[in-house]
Formats: sequence, C-alpha cells, structure tokens
Amino acid sequence: MRWKGRRQSDNFEDVGKGGGGGRTVVGGGIGVLIVAAIVYFMGGDPSQILQQAGNTVPTQNEAAVEDSPERKESKEFVRVVLGDTEDVWNKLFAQMGQQYKEPKLIVFTDEVQSACGMAGAATGPFYCSADDQVYIDLSFYDVLKNKLNSPGDFAMAYVIAHEVGHHVQHLMGITDKVHAMRSRLSEAEYNKLSVKLELQADFFAGVWAHHAQQMNNILEAGDIEEALNAAHEIGDDRLQQRSSGRVVPDAFTHGTSAQRMHWFKKGFETGDISQGNTFEAADL
Ligand SMILES: [Zn+2]
Repeated sequence: MRWKGRRQSDNFEDVGKGGGGGRTVVGGGIGVLIVAAIVYFMGGDPSQILQQAGNTVPTQNEAAVEDSPERKESKEFVRVVLGDTEDVWNKLFAQMGQQYKEPKLIVFTDEVQSACGMAGAATGPFYCSADDQVYIDLSFYDVLKNKLNSPGDFAMAYVIAHEVGHHVQHLMGITDKVHAMRSRLSEAEYNKLSVKLELQADFFAGVWAHHAQQMNNILEAGDIEEALNAAHEIGDDRLQQRSSGRVVPDAFTHGTSAQRMHWFKKGFETGDISQGNTFEAADL
C-alpha cells in the first residue's frame, strides 16, 4: 500500500497501557508507582511523578508506551488508513445526503477501558458502538503476520477498514436493529444475523478499498491478495478469545473464509453500497 507522506488522521489517540476513553482516576494507581520506581532506579527523581499522581491523572498517562521506530511507523500507518476511510466515507455519506460522523481510533497496549468494557490485546481490534471508537493494539500487526499467516500492510488496512465498516453500520442504524432482535431470537438465529453483520463489514472494507484507490491511488501489486488472504485466514472466530467479564464486541462468528473473501471482493469490485445487503443476500 502506498501510504508514506500522506495525510494522517487526527481522530487518533494512543492511550498507552491500561488507559482508555479519557477517563480520569484519583491517585494514579499502581502504574504511577511503577513509573516512579523506574525513574528512581534510572537515577531520576520520582517525587515529581508521585506529586502529579496526587492530582487527578488521566489514566492514559499511567503508563505511556514509548515509541520504538517500528511502533512509530505503525501508528503513522494506521492514521493514514483511518484518514483514507474518512475521505471515502465522507464522500459516500454526502452522496446519500447524509453527514458522516468520523470515528476515533484508539491505540492501546495490552489492555484498554472502552465504553463497552475492558478489553485485552487478545480481543483483537474491535469497534465499540457505545463510544464510536475503534480500538487496536498495534501488536496485532505481528499477530496477523506471524500467527494468522497474513503478512502485508494491506492485511492490516483491511482489518482497520472492517472495524470502520462496523462504525458505518452503526451510523446507518443497522447495528441497533440487529441488537434489538437479540431477545426475540434463539442463539443460533441471532448468530446467523451476527455473521451477516460481519460479512457486511467486510463488504464495506471492500467498498472502502475501491474508492480509496480511486481517490488516493493507494494500491500496490499484491495488496488485494493480502486483504483476501487475511479475510481467509481470519474466518470464523480465529481472532477472538472469549473470557467471562471481558468485552468481546466482535466475538461472534464472522463467517467462513469463502464468505469473507466473497463479500470483500464484491465491495471492492462494485464500490456500490447498495450491493451490500448481506441480510437479504441469497448467496451466503
Ligand atoms: Zn467485525
């Protein structure tokens, strides 16, 4: 993907370790003590940090994560991809006579507090409709490459575009409609609907790739194959680890590998939102 030197979205926040949502706590907690201890052992003066901790400290300051060159580059990359999704969805919503509300992307490390609950890195990237934010631990890049057999920057771009696709569904009222049906359906029936929601997010990721290519000429040879490969490798629940008491908003069955590839491809080839009614589609 061609991304270097392009616009980076400002709808972005790196909340570090155990942070999130701009929430504040009094005291600063154990993270501050650890930072203070590190400063002490490094020969610094921890009293300043402990003093600050006495005030109300934003949780995200508890343990800011220092940027390695790789991490800095990953952050720039996700911000460019997010910027591309803004370009595309602003345009497509305007064409429908609506205004697109841009989501915020939260980069976290290990654990994060979202309006949907606590989430860990093992959750994988997710979208929380309660705060309109996409959450991602950048270590997912390595997970994609090394554990999910999906190398390539465009595999990561596809994952981000999929999460933004969930945001688009939320803005369109589709998410709420599906959630509202939960109590009226059996678990199996509801799971089927959830798959359709996931496949539509894949379709929207494809629609994004189509228009981002037209608008910003982003694609390099092999990019679409990278996305399709990722769609294949992360079929079903491979991204998710359920554990009780922790949020797993994206934890339902995502559809088979073939289904995911089919819908991403359809979105990419048509670029036409109206072709993405996975709920009515016969070819599921
Ligand atoms: Zn999803």
